[in-house]
Amino acid sequence: MKLQETAVEAYLGLGSNLGDSIATLKSACLALAAVEGIQLLAVSAFYRSRPVGPQDQPDYVNAAIRIGTKLSAEALLDALHTIENQHGRVRTQHWGPRTLDLDILLYDDQQIQTQRLRIPHPEIPFRGFVLYPLQEIAPADLHIPGLDSLRNLLASCPQDGLEKIDS
Ligand code: ADP
Ligand code: MG
Repeated sequence: MKLQETAVEAYLGLGSNLGDSIATLKSACLALAAVEGIQLLAVSAFYRSRPVGPQDQPDYVNAAIRIGTKLSAEALLDALHTIENQHGRVRTQHWGPRTLDLDILLYDDQQIQTQRLRIPHPEIPFRGFVLYPLQEIAPADLHIPGLDSLRNLLASCPQDGLEKIDS
């Protein structure tokens, strides 16, 4: 894997609603920290959230993390897919249940639109389970490129059913 010379900061969203989700998210953090070119900088609390899309599936556990990375956005996505697969991820129904979902929320201050990648992640402004964990680990004045400040996005996003997990 080709590493860039300097690291950039990126934010990742983690989610799981099959199996032991808390253990899976902790294991995913360890797996991420072990990737050459990824440094784990901060981990949010874990949150329980209601599923988006099909409702006949278990609640989710979500978290956000901040990393430093020398991987390109594309290489980072490949690393995330490898870790999802190692945790038994099977892609079936869109927005259906999954053992592990790892999304790139933000990569540096870049806006990226390719066949495989949309950054900032397009769900950021609408999802409490992304915004609230992100707030814990991001600077107070974080700006989501092409969108708005994290503060303004939070102000117009209800917390609906989002619960912080004591762990
Ligand atoms: P979702 O996360 O939308 O529920 P998946 O995890 O199955 O669905 O991802 C489907 C595809 O979304 C991935 O194969 C990836 O190419 C694409 N994708 C686009 N933008 C991103 C992003 N910012 N982070 C992660 N995946 C992304
Ligand atoms: Mg995903």
